[in-house]
Amino acid sequence: MMELHPSDRPPDGETDVVYSRCNGSEAEDTSCAVCGVPIIITPGQLRTKKYKRYEWWDPCAIHAEGYHYEAPERYSSLEAHDLPVEIYGFDDIEIEYVHRGRNSQKRLLNVGLEEYPYIGLHRKCLDMMQRLVSYRKALASQGVAVTDPRSLSQIYEVLEYRITRPGIQRAQGVESSLSSITTRQVIEPHDYYFRVMDVPGNVQWPIGRPDVFEYEVDPFPIPGLTDQILAYLEPLPEHRRGCDEPSTQLLKLPVEIVEEIYLHLHPFVDPGRACTYYLPSDTWRDFLFYRQLLPWLWDLDVAVLRDRSLQPDDGSQPLYDAENYWNWEQLVRMLAQTEIFEPGNDMSKAPLRLRNRRRIWRLLDEARLRDVDDWLDNTQVEQ
Ligand SMILES: [Zn+2]
Repeated sequence: MMELHPSDRPPDGETDVVYSRCNGSEAEDTSCAVCGVPIIITPGQLRTKKYKRYEWWDPCAIHAEGYHYEAPERYSSLEAHDLPVEIYGFDDIEIEYVHRGRNSQKRLLNVGLEEYPYIGLHRKCLDMMQRLVSYRKALASQGVAVTDPRSLSQIYEVLEYRITRPGIQRAQGVESSLSSITTRQVIEPHDYYFRVMDVPGNVQWPIGRPDVFEYEVDPFPIPGLTDQILAYLEPLPEHRRGCDEPSTQLLKLPVEIVEEIYLHLHPFVDPGRACTYYLPSDTWRDFLFYRQLLPWLWDLDVAVLRDRSLQPDDGSQPLYDAENYWNWEQLVRMLAQTEIFEPGNDMSKAPLRLRNRRRIWRLLDEARLRDVDDWLDNTQVEQ
């Protein structure tokens, strides 16, 4: 077992979960359409064990309809639709493939031949989806050019397309190497950013295997999150410390214009790593804690900035909220790198939960309508 960050360690008695399961279609798992990790594994013994570490695999389903309009090709949809999205809990959804066709009132998940399928996902992934939508809507309302999808029904449509497109392709007689993929797993053009390459397309999740543990951990809450992030904060270079002169002409502008410029820093994804020092360092701190510049860090605790017990302990350094001492720009630029928590990168020692949260947010952030087209076309099998 790899060395785990204390906040990632499973509760006692839950460290040996590796399951051996029978083969066959009834042993297939149903995965979350957002993060690719199971919402339910079959058979159901694991559910009866009630492991705490898998509690967050709480499934739900989303469903929207009415955004297609009649057009020569099937997938024409309304512009910028923001339609009601129904949400169903565990008791309303059907995930046991064996029940299919029975007289069930429950909603079957991910049925690729239906125009508007019920899509299975984790509650927590739905929560992050809602956060992303709120973030994009708020920016759009302030005039920032944000990308679609920016409503829940638009994200639903992205996922719906991924579910139904392989079926349409098959109906058109096009074979791809993914034709055999089951409806229990939704295709995703980045293979969900799993580095463990035998996970995508595998109908059974290798539950409890050490190399997939990072995908199994709960993306939130993260114990001591703010503390973990601030562990990477460094002092400013000595010649820049204590300098409270505005370092740029920008701060001589009217505040309304400056605010407008700040707004257009969003979305702050994969910016350059090098600090420009155009803005005072403390402005970057405020971007991080008060302005949601990194919206996937929605739960940072401002009180930690003034908490002496979390400070570096040599006694010589000021609190985290000290003016012009810490290099907040460096920290924010580092955090904004999409792969910063991946092995070999600067923050790879951070809790796995943080790595998983960043992965899930990235999957949502990069999702686009029809984004599986090229990917599917490239997997076509020569006839
Ligand atoms: Zn998920």
